[in-house]
Amino acid sequence: MIDTHAHLTSLEDTDEAIRRATDAGVTRILTVGTNVDDCRRALSLAERHDGVFAILGIHPHDAGTATAEDLAALRELLAHPKAVAVGETGLDWFRDYAPRDDQRRLFAAELELAAELGKPVVIHTRAADDDTLAALAGHSGTVVLHCFSAPRMLPTALERGWYVSFAGNATFPQAVDLRLAATQVPRERILAETDSPYLAPQPVRGRRNEPANVVHTLAALASARAEEPGELERQIEQNAEQCFGV
Ligand SMILES: [Zn+2]
Repeated sequence: MIDTHAHLTSLEDTDEAIRRATDAGVTRILTVGTNVDDCRRALSLAERHDGVFAILGIHPHDAGTATAEDLAALRELLAHPKAVAVGETGLDWFRDYAPRDDQRRLFAAELELAAELGKPVVIHTRAADDDTLAALAGHSGTVVLHCFSAPRMLPTALERGWYVSFAGNATFPQAVDLRLAATQVPRERILAETDSPYLAPQPVRGRRNEPANVVHTLAALASARAEEPGELERQIEQNAEQCFGV
């Protein structure tokens, strides 16, 4: 199994968590860097572990302090052979940690970078569905909607062939709408992730999350889609290979 979105640098026991993931059958992990320093740490983990790859970006929460030098550094880091995608990037009107204009500018710059480098872009969007869709309207590269939580965006996502990645929140009892959305995503576009250390899935809900737990999200998705978990697992691995080239 593959965990397509984790923040390994936010775990205190990263090496042990990677080992527990391997024991649980999670042999590949895409770890996400959220600022230049964190991206460097993500890449050094990817260098030390065969099954770890890096998604590199400046998070919308950090948009207020991101400089042109940061973007230049990000471009250089993305040349690393284990840097597989740009992100997470997007708009967050829920937390509003950074001014909206700064978030818009940074999102546009990271989309441009993804287009220039021919890499997929991993999208974080919260309470900003319409503005996120508007920003993506002119982007023709590969798009992944990470931690999918906005069923309103699904019709556009499906029409445009974007990947839809489900996290632990899709396993929560009240998340009927997310599991319904999961049944509507075509086989070749569905992904699963943990977003570790956040959003631990149902059986371990409330605890610190780690990549091994992606198996619980996989099980919930398979059950919602009335598919055999092993088959969905193989399909998701194929999708991740296709999307990220891992
Ligand atoms: Zn994330």
